[in-house]
Amino acid sequence: MKLPIPYGCQEILPEDQAAVQEALSQELITQGSYLTRFEADFSAYLNASHSIAVANGTAALHLSALALGWEKGHTVICSPLTFVASVNCVLYTGASVDFVDIDPKTGLMDLQLLKEKLESSPEGTYQGVIPVDYAGLPIQMDEVAELTRTHKLNILEDSCHAPGGVYVDRDGVKQHCGNGAYADAAIFSFHPVKHLTTGEGGMITTRNQALADKIKQLRVHGIHKSPEPPEGGWYYEMQELGYNYRLNELQAALGYSQLKRAAANLALRKQKARIYDEALADLPIKLPAAAEGHAYHLYVIRTEKRKELYDYLRSQQILTQVHYIPVNYQPYYQNLGWKKGDFPHAEAFYDQCLSIPLYPHLGEDQQAYVIEKIRTFFKGY
Ligand SMILES: *Cc1c(COP(=O)(O)O)cnc(C)c1O
Repeated sequence: MKLPIPYGCQEILPEDQAAVQEALSQELITQGSYLTRFEADFSAYLNASHSIAVANGTAALHLSALALGWEKGHTVICSPLTFVASVNCVLYTGASVDFVDIDPKTGLMDLQLLKEKLESSPEGTYQGVIPVDYAGLPIQMDEVAELTRTHKLNILEDSCHAPGGVYVDRDGVKQHCGNGAYADAAIFSFHPVKHLTTGEGGMITTRNQALADKIKQLRVHGIHKSPEPPEGGWYYEMQELGYNYRLNELQAALGYSQLKRAAANLALRKQKARIYDEALADLPIKLPAAAEGHAYHLYVIRTEKRKELYDYLRSQQILTQVHYIPVNYQPYYQNLGWKKGDFPHAEAFYDQCLSIPLYPHLGEDQQAYVIEKIRTFFKGY
C-alpha cells in the first residue's frame, strides 16, 4: 500500500503522457488545436455555451471580474469559507468585498442571509456575488439568481470544486454547476488536487457571447485582430488593458486527455464517498451534507477533536487538510477591517472541519486504512 496518503492528488496515465507528447510535436505549442478541442469538450461536458481556458483558476476569477465590469466604487459579496483567490479577484479590480456567512449545515453561502443583506441595503449597494460550490456541493444557482435579480447583481460562480456537479432547479430541470444557466460566468481550476489537472490551469464558462468575447480579448493583452486588416496582415489593436493568461498546448493536451475520464472519475469519487458515509456513520463526527449531485472534490468531516485527529492521522501518514481558514482571519483582510467573530458560522465550521483523502484512484486498501485509523482514534474518546 502506498503511503503517505494525501487528501487529494492527480492521476496521470499513459494516455495523458501520449497527449502531451503529441502536443510537443505540433507546430504550434501554444494557441493550437488542443486548446480549441479542450474548450469545446469542456463546454459539452457541462452544457455551457462558451469555455475559455486560462493560466489558472485565479486568472479565471480575475478576467471574469474584469469582464463583468467590477471596478473601484463597486462592492461584491463573497463567502468567508473559501480559498482566498475567490475573494482576492474582487480586490484586483479595485472593487471592495463584503461577505455573507455560510449555512452551517452545508458550508455554502447562506441564501437567507444573502436575501436579508440585500433587502436591508439601499439599491445599488452591491454589484455582484461570488457563490462557491463548496467541497463540490452544488449551490442552487436558480435561487441565487432569483434573490439577486431585482438588485441587478452579476453572478460569478466559483465552481472549482464542482465540475460534473448537478442540481435540480425550481422548474425540475437538471443543471450542471458552472453551465451558465443562471450565473453570468463560472470558473474552474486545474490545479493538481482538483478533479482534472493541467499542472496549472483554469477555465471560464458562460452562455453570454459578448462576455466570452471580452474575456478572450482580456486573455491576450486586450488585443483585437481583424481577419483581414486593411493596414496589412501584421496589424492589431490593443483596445483595453489585458493580460497574458493563456494556457499552452502541453497543458491543453493534458486537460483534453484528463477530461475524457472526468465522468468516470466523478462516479469513483461518489462511490468512495458512499464508503466513508457508511463506515464512519456511528462515530461522533458530522459527515458531509449529502446530495445526489454532489461532485465530492472534498470529503469534509467535522469533529471537536479536529486538531488531535489531524495530528494523529499525520503520524499515521494520512495527510488531511483544512478547508478553509475563514478569509476574515487572514492578516491582509484584517488590515481591511475584517476581524475574528464577524462570521460565526464559517468560524465554527473552520474549528471542526477536516478534509480526509478522496480521489478517484484512492486504493481500496488505502481507504480501508484511513477508515481504520479514524476509528482507532475515536476509540480513545
Ligand atoms: C483552487 C481554487 C481556486 C484557485 O485556483 P488556482 O488554479 O489555484 O488559481 C479558487 N477557488 C477555489 C474554491 C479553489 O478551490
